[in-house]
Amino acid sequence: MEAKLAWENYDDAKMEEVFALSERYKKFISDCKTERECVRETARIAREAGYRDLNEVIEAGETLKSGDKVYAINMEKNIVLFCIGKQPIEKGMNILGAHIDSPRIDLKQNPLYEDSSLALLDTHYYGGIKKYQWVSQPLAIHGVVAKKDGSVVEIVIGEKEDDPVIGISDLLIHLAQDQLQKTGAKVVEGEDLNVLVGSIPLKAEDEKERTVKANILRLLKELYDIEEEDFLSAELEVVPAGKARDYGFDRSMIMGYGHDDRVCAYTSLEAMLQVEHPERTSVCILVDKEEIGSVGATGMCSRFFENTVAEVMECAGEYSELKLRRALTNSKMLSSDVSAAFDPNYPGVFEKKNTAFFGRGFVFNKYTGARGKSSSNDANAEYMAEIRAIMEKDGVCFQTAELGKVDQGGGGTIAYIMANYNMQVIDAGIAVQNMHAPWEVVSKADVYEAMVGYRAFLKA
Ligand code: MN
Ligand code: MN
Repeated sequence: MEAKLAWENYDDAKMEEVFALSERYKKFISDCKTERECVRETARIAREAGYRDLNEVIEAGETLKSGDKVYAINMEKNIVLFCIGKQPIEKGMNILGAHIDSPRIDLKQNPLYEDSSLALLDTHYYGGIKKYQWVSQPLAIHGVVAKKDGSVVEIVIGEKEDDPVIGISDLLIHLAQDQLQKTGAKVVEGEDLNVLVGSIPLKAEDEKERTVKANILRLLKELYDIEEEDFLSAELEVVPAGKARDYGFDRSMIMGYGHDDRVCAYTSLEAMLQVEHPERTSVCILVDKEEIGSVGATGMCSRFFENTVAEVMECAGEYSELKLRRALTNSKMLSSDVSAAFDPNYPGVFEKKNTAFFGRGFVFNKYTGARGKSSSNDANAEYMAEIRAIMEKDGVCFQTAELGKVDQGGGGTIAYIMANYNMQVIDAGIAVQNMHAPWEVVSKADVYEAMVGYRAFLKA
């Protein structure tokens, strides 16, 4: 059962569509490198497509009817879109879910220090990273500083052509004899991911004030009107600097930061925006904190989704506790996350019959998990059959996969959390090479097939 390459199905017009979608996606991930940036841009795109803030609808005492489009934002880091269906919501929703947080290096709450006339920022990495991949790379900083007066300062340094970049030093090979004897996990250690940000001392009368750290603080005050103490209430994320780019002589792939899982988030969003007057209510939820276990108020484990469905049902004039539960139970979901793309450089970790390949389309994982499918949502066979039928009907090129060989490792997604509502959920997504590395790679054909697959699912 070897899947065909999606590329073989494309005529010139289709090729243009495939590449055009990738251009829009490349712009999205180049501009949006934090969950907050993803939420803001998603809301902007949604508003342009006729979506309204659910809070406005509630405050105006308006009602929602079939065809209406609303979105709700949770703490600037999690967003959900609804397009109301012809059927009552109680009959269930077709839900697309993906996550918009990506592995990165966060600043600590007290980050700035000086050592040997260099100003550095101390960090704590977020999500699963191979730490040695993040040294000697051009890095940028994206995030917010919340001040005591309630204002929030946005910071992005390292993305504009003439912006400086920052980075983490690597040990020169000439002196790395001892280092190279260490295991990969210890070659670069978490506490050594310190970001170099300056080396000029402050011009001052008093010799004690002539420090590099003081000069950095002066710059931060001038540029952003923030003090050292304001780091206490900041969320500053150190991420790879620069834009997503075409990859390969034939431009068939995209190299970018944060494909996991913004590639599923963006394609879900595009599919969602193409929905008009669906039978069943269409939903697209983009969550935070998947990379650290879906915890917290903005992760999938939060009540935000359930509460928002209740609000939407109230506006649609059909809320009751029982109807809410029925709506959730009767729902179907594609829980999207990236899959490992087969890598000919590391064939040993894959089992080729059950692995995702670049260019073979939208990926379905009946189950994920580790060891004996531990912590997996194992989708029902009947649901898998329904999904196959939906994809085939719309000519979506798809493949099925597991994440690597049995007992090689594994991973989890948000699927099991939504399955707790007793709804049908299956893991779906896009194959990625270099997953969790600063620069990940996807196939443009897979990006396109996923979007078409999401659209087919929302219509079904
Ligand atoms: Mn993921
Ligand atoms: Mn991940």
